[in-house]
Amino acid sequence: MLNELFNKLIALRHKVALNAGYSNFRDYMFAAMGRFDYTVEDCHNFHQSVKEYIKPVCDTIDENRRLALGYDTLKPWDTEVDTEGKAPLKPSETTAELLDKAITCFNTIDPFFGQCLDTMKSMGHLDLESRKGKAPGGFNYPLYQSNVPFIFMNSANSMRDLVTIVHEGGHAIHSFLSKDLELTDFKSTPSEIAEIASMAMELISMEHWDVIFTNPEDFKRAKKYQLEKAISALPWIAQIDKFQHWIYENPTHTNEQRDAYWLSLCAEFGSNLLDWTGHQDGLANQWQKQLHLYEVPFYYIEYGIAQLGAIAIWRNYKNNPAKTLEQYKAALTLGYTRPLPELYETAGIRFDFSAAYVKELGDFVMAEIKAL
Ligand SMILES: [Zn+2]
Repeated sequence: MLNELFNKLIALRHKVALNAGYSNFRDYMFAAMGRFDYTVEDCHNFHQSVKEYIKPVCDTIDENRRLALGYDTLKPWDTEVDTEGKAPLKPSETTAELLDKAITCFNTIDPFFGQCLDTMKSMGHLDLESRKGKAPGGFNYPLYQSNVPFIFMNSANSMRDLVTIVHEGGHAIHSFLSKDLELTDFKSTPSEIAEIASMAMELISMEHWDVIFTNPEDFKRAKKYQLEKAISALPWIAQIDKFQHWIYENPTHTNEQRDAYWLSLCAEFGSNLLDWTGHQDGLANQWQKQLHLYEVPFYYIEYGIAQLGAIAIWRNYKNNPAKTLEQYKAALTLGYTRPLPELYETAGIRFDFSAAYVKELGDFVMAEIKAL
């Protein structure tokens, strides 16, 4: 049923592209999304670099997990459990406490960041707590009249909620910093830079999570959680993106050909250590869980591009916090008034998917995980 719906979508999308004078839906979408600063070739480089230099980092993480669990093989459901059987990390008992801790953490990085959250708190621009009947999800919504954004989320005081509040807090800082730009469109930034504001804030704030986790063991555990999540997202993003290129370059493929291609990508990008024996169907249909393929085609690699940028900013921050924050703020203040490579340069990083650069970043994350 889902496959049939997807086939209809592919045919319709291909027709839209042809009607608009493009040879396929991928090329149409690159134009429609205003991707002025990178090409199909750059996406191929991203896929290749992630496969070569990030996937091995993820394999090492999985291998360490297997050893810690003492298993011969890892099953798909073994990837999320705590290897020592510890209870989940809990950053706070209440949502009010989570917010106060996030403000304290932001103040430690830069008093301006703390002020941003404080202003939103005093103006009632925060709806953080999960409650019956509330819509799911989490986001920062810029309000262009008052220039004080709004954060919506569903906190249950879990580790993930801590990451969400600092992530959305990063988006909020972006809104505050770009408030003086002349046109509203200048303040509306594409995800390749918007997610730098938020993902870099996840990693920068992580350095100060000791104000949240006062027990050093918990602090270390929280950092490990964050780093493993940050790096392991990249091969999946590359796999989904490469899959989409193939789908629309070959719009008349059959379901069987699509499954076979997806499985070949699983071999390229998926973990070598996960044993899917007996669950081959689950693996072949794994892409179905990524709603972007249906709802927002080609919108996905942005998160991978921004994650690499966020890692690069975090690396700078560890070497020179003051300079890095200055560059971070300078880049966000520009909104979308400059091309992406210039915004990245202002942030002190490169808009670069080359093997050498991605290797550097992958090696850095691996060394940091090992040092924990
Ligand atoms: Zn975000």
